[in-house]
Amino acid sequence: MSKYYNPPKKTTYQPGSATPYRLSRSKIDMFMNCARCFYMDQRLGVAQPPGYPFSLNSAVDGLLKKEFDVHRANGTAHPMMSAHGLDAVPFPHEKMNRWREADFGRGGIRAMHAPTNFDVGGAVDDVWVNPAGELIIVDYKATAKLGEVSLDADWQIGYKRQMEVYQWLFEQNDFSVSKTGYFVYVNGKMDAAAFDGKLEFDVKLIPYEGDGSWIEPTLMQIKQTLEAEEIPPANKECDYCLYRNWAIKVVQPLLRQGSAGQASKKEVSLPKKPLVEPEQGSLL
Ligand code: SF4
Repeated sequence: MSKYYNPPKKTTYQPGSATPYRLSRSKIDMFMNCARCFYMDQRLGVAQPPGYPFSLNSAVDGLLKKEFDVHRANGTAHPMMSAHGLDAVPFPHEKMNRWREADFGRGGIRAMHAPTNFDVGGAVDDVWVNPAGELIIVDYKATAKLGEVSLDADWQIGYKRQMEVYQWLFEQNDFSVSKTGYFVYVNGKMDAAAFDGKLEFDVKLIPYEGDGSWIEPTLMQIKQTLEAEEIPPANKECDYCLYRNWAIKVVQPLLRQGSAGQASKKEVSLPKKPLVEPEQGSLL
């Protein structure tokens, strides 16, 4: 059995339960990407396979945190802020490390959403504060690409939603929050003459004007989805469902004919009826 993929979870959303349900920022994003995969994960306990750990990105995050923490302790602006004309300093707060804690059981920035009974949370990278006392939500991003980094690609909608959920969470905790958040985007230089045991980065501060008006309606939709017995439709643009459906289409006749081998015949219980004709997004 795979060391990385876990079998179905036993703890899933229980319709009608009065116990607050923990809903992470990343699961909200999962719902936005595909309600069916979200339902399979949170209601049926079948999660997507985990991604590989991004060790280099984590190292960059850790170093940036250390760097900004020095200025937080001193009450000074990081030169990067001054270079961008941003009048702010890293926000000193006793809960800063707790807000950064990715383990939902131990921390993160959290808020109870009463209409859904969701305990919503996420782990923020950094928080700065301007002279007006408004919090500025900050997210670190690391990549390595030729050319300038930006937020213009379609897939980066997840970054924007992430920022908006953090802004919303801090507002729910009665902080005054600036609509403008910042991405500290570091880009590994790929045009260096040689590696020489080091990777250098360009650092860019990208402002983003958040609009979290989608969050409350989305939480209500998530609640409705989790309470329902019907599995939601799949995302028709998803390559994984297309792959799974084609895999079923190709393998099922082989299993029926027994040509997938004796071992497969013993290990797999064959479906009695044909499965739904696999078209993209139709089955799983
Ligand atoms: S389309 Fe299918 S594989 Fe893709 S995210 Fe949705 S349920 Fe998962």
